Amino acid sequence: MKIAFIGLGHMGGGMAPNLAKAGHDVRAYDLVKDAVEKAAGAGCTAVPSAADAIKGADVVITMLPAAKHVRAVYQDDVAPNAKPGALLIDCSTIDVASAREVGQAMERQGFEFVDAPVSGGIAAAAGGSLTFMVGGNDEAFGKAKTFLDPMGKAVIHAGELGAGQAAKICNNMILGATMAVTCEAFVLAQKLGLDAQVFFDISSKASGQSWSMTSYAPVPGVGPDTPADHDYEGGFAAALMLKDLKLAEEAAQQVGAYTPMGGEAEELYQRFVDRGGGSKDFSGIIKMIDDSWKVPDEE
Ligand code: NAD
Repeated sequence: MKIAFIGLGHMGGGMAPNLAKAGHDVRAYDLVKDAVEKAAGAGCTAVPSAADAIKGADVVITMLPAAKHVRAVYQDDVAPNAKPGALLIDCSTIDVASAREVGQAMERQGFEFVDAPVSGGIAAAAGGSLTFMVGGNDEAFGKAKTFLDPMGKAVIHAGELGAGQAAKICNNMILGATMAVTCEAFVLAQKLGLDAQVFFDISSKASGQSWSMTSYAPVPGVGPDTPADHDYEGGFAAALMLKDLKLAEEAAQQVGAYTPMGGEAEELYQRFVDRGGGSKDFSGIIKMIDDSWKVPDEE
């Protein structure tokens, strides 16, 4: 199948080649030329514009930073150039309302659309082991799954348009809050004289266990290899975690949901980003929580 892939950044740059490996003709485009060349080197076809990627494609996949980019690309590039009935898949993380608006606008113009944000970072994108949470009707989901499978370990139908984004921000609200409190617990444990490895061994087998503890321990030398072992470089940027927590807060306000822990996590990540931690992995917030360590702009 002919697939247009728009947005070849940290995530899209790893995802597009997995579709090419699965035998699809992937026409790759990004505003950044280097990203297009890298994708071409990994089995995709480089094209000079979004329109060149989209014209004649059976499927259009986008992996863009935020809602404003998604709105612009679907309105200015996809709608005028996509062939009638094309399947459109947006994998970016954006707010639920924008996903619904863009999806409904595309459906009105005769296209099929799903929102399909992902869980899993840059390594999972490159390794084809993302989890996709998909919003859209049954038929569109069934078709989209065929193209998402080569990029993921799980493709789950969350519900109607926007449900994928709803699942993503609720999941990341848990992630932000559990990471912050896991960092607090490690710092408190250390101040109480507990060895970090001993605390990890206990908590990862006790009721304090979570993904933030077991798979992504925020302390160097403890648990599996994580960004903590690389001075909090790589991984999932704190600025992106803050973006997702803000999306969760906005959504909570719109529907009148009470999310005090999500709000606290948002405030903590805002402070960390304001103090220069935005490009660090989100587990690097332990540097701000532990007053014996220094945040990046103070190093
Ligand atoms: P990124 O900024 O690295 O990549 C986005 C790419 O989109 C950039 O290369 C940019 O040049 C391109 N782009 C922007 N506007 C464009 C346009 N009009 N036409 C063509 N290309 C355009 O971001 P990322 O880390 O790849 O994240 C993408 C999305 O995935 C975000 O919504 C993010 O929240 C989400 N996400 C990221 C991670 C992660 O670990 N990085 C994990 C899960 C979800």
